Amino acid sequence: MRVRKVDACALRGQLSQPFSFSQFSYDVREAMLVRVTTEDGRVGWGEAYGPAVVTAAIVGDFLGPLLIGRDPRAVESNWEMLYARSLDYGQKGVMLAAISALDIACWDLKAQDAGTPLYRLLGAPPVESIQCYWTGFYFGGDEPLERRWEREARDCLEQGFQAAKMKVGLGVARDAELVAAVRGFLGSEVKLSIDANHAYMPTDAIELARRVEGLGIHWFEEPVSPLDPEAYLQVKSQTSIPIAGGECEATRFGFERWFRLRALDYAQPDLCACGGITEGIKIATLGSLTGVHVTPHAWGTAIGQAAALHFYAARPRHPSTLVPESKLIECDRTENPYREDIIEQPMRLENGRWYLPDSPGLGVRIRPKAFEPYLAD
Ligand SMILES: [Mg+2]
Repeated sequence: MRVRKVDACALRGQLSQPFSFSQFSYDVREAMLVRVTTEDGRVGWGEAYGPAVVTAAIVGDFLGPLLIGRDPRAVESNWEMLYARSLDYGQKGVMLAAISALDIACWDLKAQDAGTPLYRLLGAPPVESIQCYWTGFYFGGDEPLERRWEREARDCLEQGFQAAKMKVGLGVARDAELVAAVRGFLGSEVKLSIDANHAYMPTDAIELARRVEGLGIHWFEEPVSPLDPEAYLQVKSQTSIPIAGGECEATRFGFERWFRLRALDYAQPDLCACGGITEGIKIATLGSLTGVHVTPHAWGTAIGQAAALHFYAARPRHPSTLVPESKLIECDRTENPYREDIIEQPMRLENGRWYLPDSPGLGVRIRPKAFEPYLAD
């Protein structure tokens, strides 16, 4: 099996209503998907996180051509070759997102060739489904947030979710009010996490953590700058709420410092940004040395979501226990015009659980000509 062609597809979809988080506002959604076609006509798909036209240029003009003629199943050597060729220019960020997309596409092909769903190739036992948490409760809109979020909480519960994540970052006092409100809307049984997207200095993050500690917060995600792992440690040492982060980090080399410092309770590499599945496995193994639980960040299309699901299904619990805490994977519920529109069949999501696809590879089929309304260039 040899790679004949690599295509990079930058997608852009207009939102009906902008939404925002602590850093900026969205009015479009972007994703970059790669299609790797082999000489015998098989197709593997991958996805990159981040600005789509930028990662598309990296794949289209630089990294993609390097894969032509290579065996896509040789994921380790392909990854090392791509990383070695780009190391001098970017060890994380968009360069690693582009490598991630290519790596995921190679794994898709490798599992298709083996005739097995990817998670089984990655060493998982037969698994039916994994519990998801609802990612939503974003800012924006003219309506008071409490009113909109009350409706959103009702949707979340009606769809059977037992875990959710909300945004914070509007200032400590306002955040504390909103977290209490959402806790009230969801009830005490639902696992509720908060995500500041690195809006705070350590002192403010610690203050917010203290104010919401009594509300049973599952984790506090990205309380402070991802450029400063020591600041995470500072926050972590001052609160009983578990600390999460890592969606801005990439590769085992990047995560090693976080793990060595014991700066995180939950590490959240994004498979579409951290270096793909090949590197995600190494990050998770490294995390297991210091008792960090790795739970992937996921944002984007069904390709990225499926990659996260297959990867996570195959990660063993560490440390092991007779009564492990349920795995919990991210499920973005914000508006995305193309998320379902580009695929033939959405992944089965029922009662807040995602069901592993049982067809070979990633198990996500893209509709022919699906991209036409969304092509960004
Ligand atoms: Mg986040």
